Amino acid sequence: MMAPRLVVVGGGISGLAAAWAARRLADERGQPLEILVLERSAVVGGKARSIARDGWLVEAGPSGFLGGRPAMERLVQEAGLSSDVVPAGVASSRRFVYRAGRMRSIVPNPIALARNGVLSVRGIGRMLLEPFIPRRLETGDETVWDFAARRLGREVADRMVRPMALGIFAGDARRLSLGSAFPRMAALEREHGSLIRGMIARKGKTSSGALSSFRHGMQSLPLALARSGRFTVRCNATVEALARADDQWQVMVAGDTAAIPADGVVLAGEPWAMASLLRPHDLTAAEALDAIPCPPIAVVALGFAPAAAARIPAGFGVLITRDEGFRMLGNLWETHLYPERSPEGHVLVRAMLGGAVDPGIGSLSEEEVVQLAKAEVARLYGITDPPVFQQVERVARAIPQYEVGHRERVARVEQALARLATIDATGFGLRGVAFADAASDGVQTGVRMAARLLGNPVETGAMVGSG
Ligand SMILES: Cc1cc2nc3c(=O)[nH]c(=O)nc-3n(C[C@H](O)[C@H](O)[C@H](O)COP(=O)(O)OP(=O)(O)OC[C@H]3O[C@@H](n4cnc5c(N)ncnc54)[C@H](O)[C@@H]3O)c2cc1C
Repeated sequence: MMAPRLVVVGGGISGLAAAWAARRLADERGQPLEILVLERSAVVGGKARSIARDGWLVEAGPSGFLGGRPAMERLVQEAGLSSDVVPAGVASSRRFVYRAGRMRSIVPNPIALARNGVLSVRGIGRMLLEPFIPRRLETGDETVWDFAARRLGREVADRMVRPMALGIFAGDARRLSLGSAFPRMAALEREHGSLIRGMIARKGKTSSGALSSFRHGMQSLPLALARSGRFTVRCNATVEALARADDQWQVMVAGDTAAIPADGVVLAGEPWAMASLLRPHDLTAAEALDAIPCPPIAVVALGFAPAAAARIPAGFGVLITRDEGFRMLGNLWETHLYPERSPEGHVLVRAMLGGAVDPGIGSLSEEEVVQLAKAEVARLYGITDPPVFQQVERVARAIPQYEVGHRERVARVEQALARLATIDATGFGLRGVAFADAASDGVQTGVRMAARLLGNPVETGAMVGSG
C-alpha cells in the first residue's frame, strides 16, 4: 500500500510546525506518511526573516517570542535549538510611551504612572475604581477600547491601551475584538469579575513566559525544521489552485505541468492566500478569510554609532500615541534586548510604520519610507548624526487584524473545513497572532490532520505533547 501524502501549503512557522508534528505522530505510530511543504518564496520562514549584514542582525518581522507555550518549547528542543535561545536583556522590562511631547516610562504602579505623566491623578482615581465596576452581562464581542474604557476609564484606554494595540497588532483598539485579540483579559473579567482582582488572584500561578529570541534570529527555527530532512520542502512553489478528484486533492503549483495528488492538505498561508484556494470549495469560508484585514507595515532598521546611540534610552522601546505629530507607531531598541544584533557600542533601532491606523504607508516608495523614518527617529531622540546602517522591509499585507466578529469568522472557516474533512488550516490569521501561537497552532493542526490520514483520529484534548 502507498503511504498517504500530506501537502502543507506555506513554509512559515505554522506550516513547518504542522509538517514536523505530522511526522512525529506518524513515527510514534510506526506508520508511513509522505509530507511535502510547498512555499511561495525562495526561502522558508514567512514573516520570520532574519537579515545579517555588516555586523548587524535585522529582523524583518518578529524579533522575539514569549515562553510558556509547551508545543513551541518542544519544537525548539527537537529542532536542536535549545542552546541558541537568547533571553531578552533585563532592559526589556522598561517600556515607554510618547505622550504630550516626551517619552514616559510605563511602570505598573499608580504613583509612578502619575509622576511620569502617563496618567492624570483623576485618571488614576478612575483606574483604581476598576474592582468595583460590575461585570458586563452581555456575552457579545466588544472592542478592546470599549472594554478598557468601561473597566479602567477613558484615559487608560487612550493613553495606555491604544498604544498597546499598536505594539502587538499594529492595530486600532477601537476595532480590535477583546475576546479574540486579548482573550486573557476577557477571561479575567469573566472569571474574577475584575482585571485587578483577577491579576491578584492569579499572581504566581500563571506566567505569560519570558521573552526570548535565537542567537541568529527568529528565522532560525523555520530553517532548522526545514533542514531536518524529516519531510520534503519545495521553495519557489506557489500553489495556484486546489481541485478535488475522487477522494484526493490535486494541488496545482504555478509552472508545473502535472498536479500533485494529496490525501490531505494543510493550508498555512495568510488569510487572503488561503481564501483564494478555498473559494471554489466553500464560498462562506473564503469570504470569512477575506474579511480579516491585513494592513501594510514598513520596518525601517537604523543603526547608530556610539555618540548618537547614547541618546536612546535603555529599554524595550517606545510606542507613540496617535496625536503627537509622528507617523511612526513606535520604535524597538533591539540592541538593549539582544546586544549581539549590533556592533559594540552601537544601537539598532527598528521603527515600525503603517498598520491598521495608517494603511497609507503602503503607497509610499521605499525611499520615502526611509526618509520619513530617519527624520522622525532623529526628531524623537534629538539625534543629529545620520545613521551608519539602514535596512528597510515592507510587507504589503502584514499582521492580520482580529477585529470584532473575528471569532465568528474563524468558526465559519472551521465549520467549512470540517465538512471538507481532508483539508485544515492554521497560521497567525486565525487563533493567535504571535509567533509562538502560530507554532503551537501549527503543531495541533499537523497532529489532527496526520491522525485523520493515518486512520485513527485523536481527540483534541488528548494530543500527546502537542501542547
Ligand atoms: C512586522 C512584524 C513584526 C512581528 N513581530 C512579532 C514579535 O515580535 N513577536 C511575535 O511573537 N510575533 C510577531 N509577529 C507575528 C509573527 O511574525 C507571526 O505570528 C508568524 O511569523 C506567522 O507565521 P505563519 O506561518 O502563520 O505565517 P507566515 O509567516 O505569513 O507564513 C505563511 C507562508 O505561506 C506562504 N504561502 C502563502 N500562500 C501560498 C501559496 N499559495 N503557495 C505557497 N506558499 C504560500 C507564504 O509565502 C509564507 O511564507 C510579527 C509580524 C510582523 C509582520
